[in-house]
Amino acid sequence: MAWRCSGGSNEQLVENMWRSGLITDPRAKEAFLKVDRAHYAPHSPYEDSPQYIGHEATISAPHMHAMAIENVMPYLKPSATSPAPRVLDIGSGSGYLTHLLAELVGEKGLVIGLEHIPALRQIGEDNMRKSTEGMKLLDTGKVQFRLGDGRLGLKEPARAGEEDHGTDWDVIHVGASAKELHKTLLDQLKAPGCMFIPVDDDESGVMQSVWRISKDQGGKVTKKNICGVRYVKLTDPPI
Ligand code: SAH
Repeated sequence: MAWRCSGGSNEQLVENMWRSGLITDPRAKEAFLKVDRAHYAPHSPYEDSPQYIGHEATISAPHMHAMAIENVMPYLKPSATSPAPRVLDIGSGSGYLTHLLAELVGEKGLVIGLEHIPALRQIGEDNMRKSTEGMKLLDTGKVQFRLGDGRLGLKEPARAGEEDHGTDWDVIHVGASAKELHKTLLDQLKAPGCMFIPVDDDESGVMQSVWRISKDQGGKVTKKNICGVRYVKLTDPPI
């Protein structure tokens, strides 16, 4: 099913992902239709494949972004513990997924893209400025691109009116393959909350699996192995 969703336009790409069952949630489909992948992929934006974006990074294939969104969707709604979902997108790269997530967190939600390479942090932001909607997301502060080591997560102070809800994240998406399931990240996940994270399965780092880690209201953690993947590594920044 992967790779088969290429289209001649953003709409065709999204329709193909819908028809093949990669996108099943109508809200997710709407978000994919709203965000033009051409603003984020330097070439062949409607092809269902990853593309090089410079600095040893790639924009993931559309079907992987669809898989990520579908897995975290239930946690992108306001809830009793979190009136406005807070999302951390680690390894934001092109900024495409950061934008999709921002379309799904509701009016008051917050999405922070975290990158460890300054040029890529900037590329994510510049890509988002290519559309009026993207510009609005940045200017209102709903989306922010920050520089930092994603392995440490991010302690983002609560915004005005949300002081009772803590600084943890409803959703953490990790866009690069981690050596381990970093405890720091798990600790920063809200209860309930959900993390989508590729992890190296063996010492060589050749085999990777993507995991869906969910925390229930009481803090109980459930891990689900979703599939094998090939992601850029979650590492120290190149010198
Ligand atoms: N979601 C992005 C994926 C980009 S590739 C997209 O689809 O465009 C993975 C990204 O993770 C790269 O941009 C890389 O610079 C970043 N990365 C790798 N290690 C990191 C770390 N320790 N902290 C933050 N970002 C990291």
